[in-house]
Amino acid sequence: MTDLSPTTRPRRFPELVPMVRPTVETDAEMELAVKEILQSGMLTNGRYVKEFEEAAAAYLGVDHAVAVSSCTTGLMLVFRCLDLTGDIVVPSFTFMASGHAVGWAGNRVRFADSDPRTWTLDPGAVAPLVPEVAGVLAVHTFGVPCDTVSLQELCDSRGLPLIIDAAHGFGSRYPDGSMVGGKGVAEVFSLSPTKTLSTGEGGLITTKDAALAARLRMAREYGNPGDYDSRFTGLNGRMTEVSGFMGLHALKRFSRWLDIRRSLAARYRSCLDGVPGLEFQVVPEGAASSYKDLGIRVDAARFGMTRDVLAERLGQENVSSRKYFSPALHQQTAYRHIPAAADLSVTEELASSMITLPLYSHMPAQVVDEICDIVREIHATAQKAGGKAS
Ligand SMILES: *Cc1c(COP(=O)(O)O)cnc(C)c1O
Repeated sequence: MTDLSPTTRPRRFPELVPMVRPTVETDAEMELAVKEILQSGMLTNGRYVKEFEEAAAAYLGVDHAVAVSSCTTGLMLVFRCLDLTGDIVVPSFTFMASGHAVGWAGNRVRFADSDPRTWTLDPGAVAPLVPEVAGVLAVHTFGVPCDTVSLQELCDSRGLPLIIDAAHGFGSRYPDGSMVGGKGVAEVFSLSPTKTLSTGEGGLITTKDAALAARLRMAREYGNPGDYDSRFTGLNGRMTEVSGFMGLHALKRFSRWLDIRRSLAARYRSCLDGVPGLEFQVVPEGAASSYKDLGIRVDAARFGMTRDVLAERLGQENVSSRKYFSPALHQQTAYRHIPAAADLSVTEELASSMITLPLYSHMPAQVVDEICDIVREIHATAQKAGGKAS
């Protein structure tokens, strides 16, 4: 007798397919450089971080790039340097660090809803808050650039700074064709292992504002310009030399990795096209996503089961997935005390229905095909069960 229960039947993938793996090509050049850095005694404040900043600024087409120890630190330092008094608008549909950075800078968050198609901060939801806040923090959700044209207009109408959490945006393009990195007062990238370009841990702040860039360089050195008379309370936000080299090394290969990532995302989208109840993020006309994550919204009624059940079934086949961003920020313990002032219904809808599937640059295309087959089969079983699976 054959037992086909999920626990005893062989899994479709014998080993766990990870959600994400940083792409690192270890070659002789890297081995040599890392050894050289470790033997040089200059583990920080050496040549590589500076070279990485210059190469990244050139790649992104921006005037100034300041490397830091993480995106969270970078955002904290931007807020500290701008010295804003008052609340900051933050989308609730984002990673927790967006809100945390605001809190660490001594500001309070004001949540706003996201657009149901692009899943990025909805300018229509920001508009009524603009007269009451000190700034706006927008996010390039999963790599889709936020609507900086409308948001910048709203901010300009009140002289507010637009700060951009570009953690997911390394490699993304705006609808005007420019690389993400050049809008707002500053954009802050994350270079942690789950992002599109990784330096182990790290972040990168880009800005057109030379004075702000200089202040940020001081801020990441405790607020010390070099004379040990700290001008304000900065912190240690430095990137290490090994990370700087990793960034430099990765940048030379990044376009190739990004092309592969985009083709894998396109493959997912075309393989799953037409499966009832699965919806993809809309990339605005002319823009390009970095595809930091391949997000799918699961409409339980049409798909035949909830996102949670789908995630469980995928897990039974050794396919990892994440429920980004669930719970949404305003639903998390750290933020629940904030009075619900705005309508966050799109955010709550997204948080309860979103799933992200495995995607990284060196992931074989056959793995995408197999995962798509599994999703289609899960849907077909749910149909046969008459939607009772949810
Ligand atoms: C990952 C992430 C961050 C934090 O990045 P770190 O480099 O880990 O500090 C901030 N915002 C968003 C949207 C993120 O996904």
